[in-house]
Amino acid sequence: MPRDYYEILSISRNATDGEIKKAYRKLAMKYHPDRNPGDNEAEASFKECTEAYEVLSDGQKRKIYDTYGHDGLKNSGYSGPGNFEDVFSSFGDIFGDIFGFGGGRSQARRNGPIPGNDLRYDLPISFMEAVHGVTKEVKITKKDTCWTCEGTGCRPGYSKETCPTCGGRGQVIRSQGFFQVSSTCPQCGGEGQIVTEPCSDCDGRGLVDKTKTVSIKIPAGVDTGAKMRLVNEGEGGRRGGPSGDLYVVIHVEEHEFFKREGDVIYCKLPVPMVKAALGAEIEVPTVHGKKTITIPEGSQSGDIFTLEKEGVPSLRGRGRGKMLVELQVMTPTKLCKEQKEMLCEFDNLCSKHGQNHEHEGFFSRLFAEVLGK
Ligand SMILES: [Zn+2]
Ligand SMILES: [Zn+2]
Repeated sequence: MPRDYYEILSISRNATDGEIKKAYRKLAMKYHPDRNPGDNEAEASFKECTEAYEVLSDGQKRKIYDTYGHDGLKNSGYSGPGNFEDVFSSFGDIFGDIFGFGGGRSQARRNGPIPGNDLRYDLPISFMEAVHGVTKEVKITKKDTCWTCEGTGCRPGYSKETCPTCGGRGQVIRSQGFFQVSSTCPQCGGEGQIVTEPCSDCDGRGLVDKTKTVSIKIPAGVDTGAKMRLVNEGEGGRRGGPSGDLYVVIHVEEHEFFKREGDVIYCKLPVPMVKAALGAEIEVPTVHGKKTITIPEGSQSGDIFTLEKEGVPSLRGRGRGKMLVELQVMTPTKLCKEQKEMLCEFDNLCSKHGQNHEHEGFFSRLFAEVLGK
């Protein structure tokens, strides 16, 4: 049984939004994976309080949780922080608050922590994987914080020194004709300080190249363009700054037989001419298995049959979309002599019953229109 969300955040059941946010900030700062590298317990606590915050900061989810508890949330389709960007749009705000992500990121203080960059990974998945969900192992090569120097770039025991070129100002002034032009110091890159004793593991960069395998759980029902945000899986920060996030952008490959529009699946089903004329039971492949439909006598190309709940599972809750099957009546080919004779005989019978008239009528009407008769 998961722990009570209020208990996790140590707040009362009628805590205000502000109190919830404050409680979460405190815990997130304490348990943040960047502050506790390699500490699985801290990571579990971080995830736990993040989930609690995720639910309690969302009025609707909180109401469900207050009334029905954890089971109620599960039944409403909530499956914990899967980091779906659109589902967790509220999520970015508080991280922006705490760690200076987003807009503030590029304006890091000159000597303060530098947060890592966000990364984007484009992940192709098959049509069926998108329908049923899949877990993908993805190898990411990224710049990660060098833990030997904790991202400072200095050999342990040493610290940075004032840049001699700019005297610590980060800017140098050049004369250009009558003007004086101020530009970023080429030696320290505007930082005002330089590494004099570089860390041997990262050559003073504070970052090392690391390849990491990340496991990404993709829920059933995703479509092209869906973005998943994996918190702290981006590039490493420097000088104590937090890691960036990894954004995984889903690209669903096309299927030979099925097409998809949201949670509706569409397919064309070839039906032999005689079966279409006489009516028949026909097997239809669906993404969930085989189904049988009964097509009536005289079925035509373009007739559409609906199979409820044979489409794509809904991302946000229970249920599935429908499947639309469009008949495509197939004219037989490579007929033997006997078949041709039977069809000729059949055609004669059609003429006798006046069943070719509709066709003839269509042409005479059209000719009359075109020739103005
Ligand atoms: Zn280093
Ligand atoms: Zn400088």
